[in-house]
Amino acid sequence: MPAVPRDGYGREIDYLRISLTDHCNLRCVYCMPLAGLSLASPSEFLDAGEIESVVRAAVALGFRKFRLTGGEPTLRPDLVDIVGRMARVPGVGDIAMTTNGVRLPALAAELRAAGLRRVNVHLDSLDPERLARIMRWGSLAAIWAGIEAAEEAGLRPIKLNAVVTRGFNEQDVVPLAALTLARDWHVRFIETMPLGVGEVAGIARRCLVPSAESRALIEAALGPLAPLPPFDRSDESRNHRLPGARGVVGFISPVTEPYCGTCNRMRLTAEGRFHLCLLNDDELDVRAALRGGGGLEAVAAILLRAVRHKPTGHRLDLGLSTERREMYQLGG
Ligand code: SAM
Repeated sequence: MPAVPRDGYGREIDYLRISLTDHCNLRCVYCMPLAGLSLASPSEFLDAGEIESVVRAAVALGFRKFRLTGGEPTLRPDLVDIVGRMARVPGVGDIAMTTNGVRLPALAAELRAAGLRRVNVHLDSLDPERLARIMRWGSLAAIWAGIEAAEEAGLRPIKLNAVVTRGFNEQDVVPLAALTLARDWHVRFIETMPLGVGEVAGIARRCLVPSAESRALIEAALGPLAPLPPFDRSDESRNHRLPGARGVVGFISPVTEPYCGTCNRMRLTAEGRFHLCLLNDDELDVRAALRGGGGLEAVAAILLRAVRHKPTGHRLDLGLSTERREMYQLGG
């Protein structure tokens, strides 16, 4: 087994999040605008074979964990093929997916059989009207059916992601946390991050609910939250358990408690660029290398350069949305 690659700050980077598309079937208020989006065409996305090549190169460098995301990954018609190809690469330790769940009733069993292990399902409200206001094109019934399909298919543990957005869903924090009393689900509350530009980023900035506030709401209604040790190095969630609960309540706090110091992840955009940090615009293009006839070694060299140039962090806690640096010297 190769040693896990380290970045310039000594962090072991062994987790690759792969975006499969920038398209989505929902329009969450803090994520995507209703109009004015310019989305890539599918021919611009890495195809299943190209994704497999990146995964092979990543494994050869010491990467072990992979997550599929988007946009909405279940919109890719070749999703089952992609998961199957990844699962067959020797050395791939874990494949998970982040999804809004809407297409899981049709896909969960096939994805499990192809080698997907787990899903994180995005659910911001348990109230149909509030959910329609915050996730816009989604419905509670559709997402709930997706969660049930995932559980039935054995995609466990079920993790739910709720983005807490002031004026939209603070009332849902307590009922969502209460789901963990009877179920072994992990319900994680995420602070809004000002991603992108315009109204969407404005909402994320204005409507931030600090995790401490969500936590206080939960404890006032449901009792003290006992801290749990981190489940693994790549878990950005600070996990807790309610008294007598089966499941886990987690807080993901990129704004008020950044976890950049333990970040072990690299991102691959749907168009094949390694993105060095979620909140940093610097990218390294791997698609050009693949389509120009470059083999696994060329891909691995680009990924290694991306690891070495990973920035320290995003400093959202200081009110910045990116860590601006000079253009990277990419020669080495
Ligand atoms: N479509 C999938 C989904 O809804 O989960 C995967 C992509 S989505 C970008 C991944 C996760 O990012 C979502 O689960 C949501 O919780 C989170 N997210 C999106 N926009 C965010 C924002 N501005 N701040 C914090 N979290 C955000």
